[in-house]
Amino acid sequence: MDAGGAGSEADVVVIGAGLAGLVAARRLAEAGRSVIVVEARDRVGGRTVNHELRDGAVAEGGGQWVGPTQDRVLALAEELGVETFPTYYEGKNLLDLGGRRRRYGGTIPRLSPLVLLDVDRARRRIDRLARTVPTDAPWRAPDAERLDTETLGAWVRRNVRTERARSLLEIACGTVWGMPSAQMSLLWALTCIASGGGFDALVDTEGGAQQDRLVGGSQLLSIRLAEGLGKAVVLGSPVRTIEQDGGGVGVRADGGPIRARRAIAAIPPSLCARIRFSPALPGGRDQLVQRMSSGAMTKCTAVYEEPFWRREGLTGEAVTDRGPIITTFDNSPPDGSPGVLVGFIAGPAAIEHARRPVSERRRVALGCLEALFGERAGHASAYFEQAWAEEEWSGGGPVCSPAPGALVAYGEELRRPSGRVHWASAETSPVWCGYMDGAVRSGERAAREVLDAEGWSPGR
Ligand SMILES: Cc1cc2nc3c(=O)[nH]c(=O)nc-3n(C[C@H](O)[C@H](O)[C@H](O)COP(=O)(O)OP(=O)(O)OC[C@H]3O[C@@H](n4cnc5c(N)ncnc54)[C@H](O)[C@@H]3O)c2cc1C
Repeated sequence: MDAGGAGSEADVVVIGAGLAGLVAARRLAEAGRSVIVVEARDRVGGRTVNHELRDGAVAEGGGQWVGPTQDRVLALAEELGVETFPTYYEGKNLLDLGGRRRRYGGTIPRLSPLVLLDVDRARRRIDRLARTVPTDAPWRAPDAERLDTETLGAWVRRNVRTERARSLLEIACGTVWGMPSAQMSLLWALTCIASGGGFDALVDTEGGAQQDRLVGGSQLLSIRLAEGLGKAVVLGSPVRTIEQDGGGVGVRADGGPIRARRAIAAIPPSLCARIRFSPALPGGRDQLVQRMSSGAMTKCTAVYEEPFWRREGLTGEAVTDRGPIITTFDNSPPDGSPGVLVGFIAGPAAIEHARRPVSERRRVALGCLEALFGERAGHASAYFEQAWAEEEWSGGGPVCSPAPGALVAYGEELRRPSGRVHWASAETSPVWCGYMDGAVRSGERAAREVLDAEGWSPGR
């Protein structure tokens, strides 16, 4: 089959070769269906991407960590022969708040008891609220409307008294969603938290979402999936139009038209607005898409001859309100050579950072690392950035979030198929929503949906 060439045909066309789309395609192919995956970029992996360092070592520019209970992405890694290794986490973390730098062990920094109490109380309250939210239907949570129309920022102002505790929660919000808490529906934040099993699961390294990494980099999952699909994956072919009629769907992509029985759009919800649908999407779906917006996040990677901070008893993990970098991690390959620090810039600060000239960006980011880890951090042998808000085919990252009020009004449209078009993407998963694990689960769910809808399911 000349996939993507003039007049290509398949049982199912998948739009987007990120984890969700490639997993959906693999499961459909396993069920004996023909499939074509159309990808806008000239690479697979979407919001995951590897950067080559040296001697085959890689550091990731996008999604990278996996952790306990992320069973579907871990099962996929095993299926594809991709191993995991623990994130380096020996020694002390750094906390740099209000111009004062401290070392601390574990999740609890050394702060005044008042601040600690404040953070701890907020975490427990958030978890208590999150437990009331059914992640497959958050709009059915008791008090859903109130929770959805309040922002996370307003809740923090009402419930958290000390400035330092508020700063810490703002940094957590930026790192997890790439958005200021003032733009974030409390109900959506609670949904994501509940989908991962609690606040600590999202922010912790040991025992949490940052616990482990993938040998060879997270993009290797998509690369292996695409290898398995062979010529069925068409790169460099943005989909511009999706048409449907009684008999099937027609997709117009730059690489040529494709006809199929059904389509799976495995793209971030916000990017659906850039595709023309004929007939137009149902109003509810369109309204939802108009209210889903992506966070902004830039990952700054600094490479050193060795991870010098380890000898100084530091994990490489830091939280800082100095800006523009707000959190850092040791991102060295499994053998620690070369040493790699990664720093996150989130929200409007990421947009502002992108406006700086390239040399200035490097200077600013290394200046932040130097303020945290000392002079050696300022002398990186290599430096690169991945600015997701500047990427046409992501439109930001790490995740799209509905505007306050939209989840209750239109949340049901997230997964509801629009005729013959089915929706996948990390945002649609009730488990580990917004994460690679959620993306894998969404691909599996969308494949099942299509097989069921066409009566192709095994045993039917
Ligand atoms: C900076 C950052 C850090 C992150 N950290 C983590 C982490 O540590 N752990 C974790 O689990 N998750 C993390 N994530 C989130 C994780 O990367 C995503 O949830 C996951 O990769 C999303 O997969 P997806 O398949 O749903 O979407 P995507 O990866 O966005 O895939 C969608 C694909 O569709 C393509 N596309 C878009 N429009 C079109 C079109 N019109 N036609 C054809 N193709 C199109 C895109 O090019 C893309 O390849 C992070 C993300 C970012 C950006």
